[in-house]
Amino acid sequence: MRFDTRLVRAGQEPDPDTGDVVPPVHLSTAYDRRSQDPPRYFYTRGENPTREGLERCLAALEDARYAAVFASGQAATATALSLLPPGRRLVCTDDVYAGTDALLATLDRQGSPVRFADLSDPDRLPEALAAPDLGMVWIESPTNPLLKVVDIGAVRHHLAGRDALVVVDNTFASPVCQQPLALGAHISLYSTTKSIAGHGDVMGGALVHDDPALDGRIRGYRTTAGNLPGALDCFLVHRGLKTLALRAARQGHNAQALVDVLVGAATVGAVHYPGLPTHPQYAVAKLQMAQPGSIVSFEYLGDPERLLDRVRLFACAVSLGGVQSLIECPALMSHRALPAHVRERRGISPSLIRVSAGIEDPLDLVEDLRDALAGSPV
Ligand code: PLP
Repeated sequence: MRFDTRLVRAGQEPDPDTGDVVPPVHLSTAYDRRSQDPPRYFYTRGENPTREGLERCLAALEDARYAAVFASGQAATATALSLLPPGRRLVCTDDVYAGTDALLATLDRQGSPVRFADLSDPDRLPEALAAPDLGMVWIESPTNPLLKVVDIGAVRHHLAGRDALVVVDNTFASPVCQQPLALGAHISLYSTTKSIAGHGDVMGGALVHDDPALDGRIRGYRTTAGNLPGALDCFLVHRGLKTLALRAARQGHNAQALVDVLVGAATVGAVHYPGLPTHPQYAVAKLQMAQPGSIVSFEYLGDPERLLDRVRLFACAVSLGGVQSLIECPALMSHRALPAHVRERRGISPSLIRVSAGIEDPLDLVEDLRDALAGSPV
């Protein structure tokens, strides 16, 4: 099956008893042992058929052997971090989702040194990855919110022969735009809350990989920690996932239309989008991404709150990747938990604006953004 067919069919086999074309949602928390031959399902914290259907689909999208889903992207991140051997070092991209930052700070306090490095700069890779105690490299690509792009294959190449795990948070790109495992990552991570579910009405996370030993550890941790999604949430994520390719195409088209408005607008400075030929890692993005994605950020040369107040169609909200277009100011919203000096060091200015393009008519989005930018900047 090709990618778009897997989206619709993988993990959605008709029910063998009833023929349901959409498999039923399995809500039971426990399973009768004597009704199964041999017994396979015991307790839903360990195993659930609805959850497994979603996992089969997510694994199929990356030609992977394993996927495990979680209650949120953060739950998936916490589980992936549990794979780092105690005391070993973690190196992370220097631009990363603020919730990941918070989990990494905890890890550092507990004795596993965490270091941030600009992994998008190929000249810095040898030094950034040199430490002999390195146990994990955490890559976001494109990064949140500055849309930096990391050459995943180059990172893996630098780690040849070492036992460090490469984890790629692929939430911004989704498997439509980027396939981290094929590029050399050990684990692809998703906040399925975003484009995988795609409708802004359910939370989830996922880890996708090819390693049977990791599968045992990841599932063992999840069963014990209980950080898993309920069956109804899995159903919603899986229902949304079927239209991912259609949504991604329209969102990419809309993002490009918005970039065309932003580039050259009198009140806009730098525009960050991996599909722009002026993007510093444009060449890498072109090679490792099938599409540049739906997220754009830019420097507004005025009061960001004025701009956020003026947009009418965009919801002024955090999150991203859904059917509705969203606009936010990271310093005030998604990355507000970071101390101001850390934001400044990373290049997240107080007037950086992040936009997530939805699937509305591009002309409506373009008009809304153009009108908002045309208003007085202060
Ligand atoms: N990774 C990235 C890149 C994100 O943007 C987010 C949330 O915005 C997360 C992980 C965490 O996902 P969740 O909100 O589903 O816990």
